Amino acid sequence: MNALHPAPLTRDAFRAEILRHLTYTVGKDASHASLYDWRMALSFALRDRIVTPWFHATRRTWAEDHKRVYYLSMEFLIGRILEDAAINLGLREVAAEALADLGQDFATVAATEPDAALGNGGLGRLAACYMESMATLGCPAYGYGIRYEHGLFRQEFENGQQVELAEDWLSQKHAWEFERPECAYTIGFKGQVETQRGRSVWVAGESVRASAYDTPVVGWAGRWANTLRLWGALPTKRFDLARFNSGDYAAAAESETLARTISRVLYPEDATYQGKELRLKQEYFLTSAAIQDILRRYLDSHSDLRALPAKVAIQMNDTHPALAGPELIRILTDHHGIGFGEAVEIARACLGYTNHTLLPEALERWSTWLMGNVLPRHMQIIERIDEDHLKAHPKRPHYVGIVKHHEVRMGELAFISSHRVNGVSALHTDLVKARLFPELDALHPGRIVNQTNGITPRRWLRMANPRLATLVTEAIGAGWEDDLDRLAGLEGHVGDAAFRERFAAAKRANKAETADWIRRATGTTVSPDAIFDVQVKRIHEYKRQLLNLLHTIAVWHDIRQNPNANHVPRVKIFAGKAAPGYVVAKEIIHLINDVAGVINADPATRDLLRVVYPPNYNVSMAERLIPAADLSEQISTAGKEASGTGNMKLSLNGALTIGTLDGANVEIRDHVGAENFFLFGLTAEEVLERRKDPDHARHAIMESQMLQDVLQMLAEGRFSPGQPGRYHGIVDRVWNHDYFLVASDFASYCAAQRAVDAAYQDGDGWSRKAAINTARMGFFSSDRAIRGYMRDIWNTGSAL
Ligand SMILES: *Cc1c(COP(=O)(O)O)cnc(C)c1O
Repeated sequence: MNALHPAPLTRDAFRAEILRHLTYTVGKDASHASLYDWRMALSFALRDRIVTPWFHATRRTWAEDHKRVYYLSMEFLIGRILEDAAINLGLREVAAEALADLGQDFATVAATEPDAALGNGGLGRLAACYMESMATLGCPAYGYGIRYEHGLFRQEFENGQQVELAEDWLSQKHAWEFERPECAYTIGFKGQVETQRGRSVWVAGESVRASAYDTPVVGWAGRWANTLRLWGALPTKRFDLARFNSGDYAAAAESETLARTISRVLYPEDATYQGKELRLKQEYFLTSAAIQDILRRYLDSHSDLRALPAKVAIQMNDTHPALAGPELIRILTDHHGIGFGEAVEIARACLGYTNHTLLPEALERWSTWLMGNVLPRHMQIIERIDEDHLKAHPKRPHYVGIVKHHEVRMGELAFISSHRVNGVSALHTDLVKARLFPELDALHPGRIVNQTNGITPRRWLRMANPRLATLVTEAIGAGWEDDLDRLAGLEGHVGDAAFRERFAAAKRANKAETADWIRRATGTTVSPDAIFDVQVKRIHEYKRQLLNLLHTIAVWHDIRQNPNANHVPRVKIFAGKAAPGYVVAKEIIHLINDVAGVINADPATRDLLRVVYPPNYNVSMAERLIPAADLSEQISTAGKEASGTGNMKLSLNGALTIGTLDGANVEIRDHVGAENFFLFGLTAEEVLERRKDPDHARHAIMESQMLQDVLQMLAEGRFSPGQPGRYHGIVDRVWNHDYFLVASDFASYCAAQRAVDAAYQDGDGWSRKAAINTARMGFFSSDRAIRGYMRDIWNTGSAL
């Protein structure tokens, strides 16, 4: 057997491996082993099987001196690893059988794994999908991130309100990582810049060590594995025993305190940004450790740093790692004596920047005071990059640049530092050009490119939806998992009534299973015959959960007024977290729960409408809810959602989208066909027009009796009887500060929802549309996206 294809494991051999690990690694006797012990033993047995392709990939990359991709991201929203690894290794069934022989159930054991939640939402989940696709495609790559002790907070509801609890994934052993204490770098902060022998030398005032923890990421069929290298912070100084013994306990621990805080917690903001010193330190901690590691690896086998771009591609996932440019330039100039201009060119040829948002409140800007204080040498370098850029482009308008109004704009820094800047959907890329960086685009034509996001079909279809995955394989054969365009082969089966029935049966079984889970999670009983209408994502005003909720109230009101009309049963499923400091988003959470309480208790409507909001949305909950969805709510204000990836997961799993022309919805609709998509709402252009009317909301409300009624019910306290004024703030926002145009899109949204009802009543017609959605989603594989990055940005090929 060669290294790529280790001997296939039999059930008996794998059972022996699990037992061996249970005994000698975990140190437990089978008769006393807990679920945790079994999971550890199973994880180690699987991890052993990753090591072969992992070593093989590393050796091959070294031997061929292959160009490597470095994906820098402050977030990796991975979720559970065990089953995904088992599936990619082709060991899911063998593992289940071996465990069964040992009296254990695979799903029960796997469900005890905590989610690795080192991210907030779409951006972090994208990084995880991309890591898996790079491994699948044999693209030699490292992911670099931070090993947060506490990932994204756990969400609970108390009296309908979100409370945040510390997340604790590392309180158990993390079975998938390898600690690399020998791989560590010093990261400096503060201090001053001195000149020594003509060169600038930064003398840091404080420092920490970044220590590596490696998690292998195995691709489909175990052909290749890459490394996710997460950095944990450690004190640089040894614990000061002398000071401790003399009674100075606080001073003895000083160096430890800084270190412990840096990799302690993930910042829970998603679409907003706060100029906090600790966050800047985290960003530099990740970036500096990554750049030092990249250069160390390069210099192990090369000497000419000028040839770095031939072997190194560095991708910045948003501006969070945008100090990569200044840090690389600093080391090339101050440590290696390369001229400034040349260093800038080398860095630019290595770097790419992915823009994820146009929202002004999410664009990172650091005060020059803070930047100069925390990173004095980098502040100088940033100013020099900006000055040189202006000199090279004297026609650059005065309002364009990196340093403006005593702030460092990280978007402009990333743009000017990179040879490619990409948006994440066709529409978003157009808007990046037209609205965010029009002047820089004009100075650097061709630098901005599009790479529409994608999702990995291994996790989001094969693993999350085994019923549909099995049906797909029966219909078109194996091989779609790493060649998702083959789903198009399903089109030939869509005309077959028996196939449509089986497609509907898989959905129905997923819904029944999820209905049970919803009852356990929320106490509410829902019927699997109702439309499962799903909006699962971060809670944000631009994503417009409020629009969905106003429609929910409208449906309730309508059923009560017209009890004998032809109503189609619905379950409105919400899930998602709000940033802890985002007051309006938290009010919306409270309102969803209050509305759920009133509607679910109403005997007049209970068979027709339910509202559920299971707490603590995460990757595992997404894997549970998405395969059970009929309707995918993608209703952001046009121009605000850069891409979305939840929309792709849902459509791939046979949900029909109700959506605006925003982000990747546009391309999803192009692929699945307008007749299989429920479009509504203003376009990105119309949104700008509409906002020019200062009374846009009032006009929209006046034109809709239903919207007036719904807002009136909210204002009267129908959903908060003990505190009738609770939602006056929300009502006032809709009337007077409706920036996200909830009122203006309400009527159009309700009309689209009526079309949904009508389509759903034709059960077979709905199944046809749903199956077509699945069949036409091949384009949205993250494999396609990564091939695009490799071709257009990284200039690299597969090593397989
Ligand atoms: C896919 C995913 C997201 C992104 O969802 P959008 O609808 O694109 O915002 C967020 N959180 C989790 C857990 C996900 O799996």
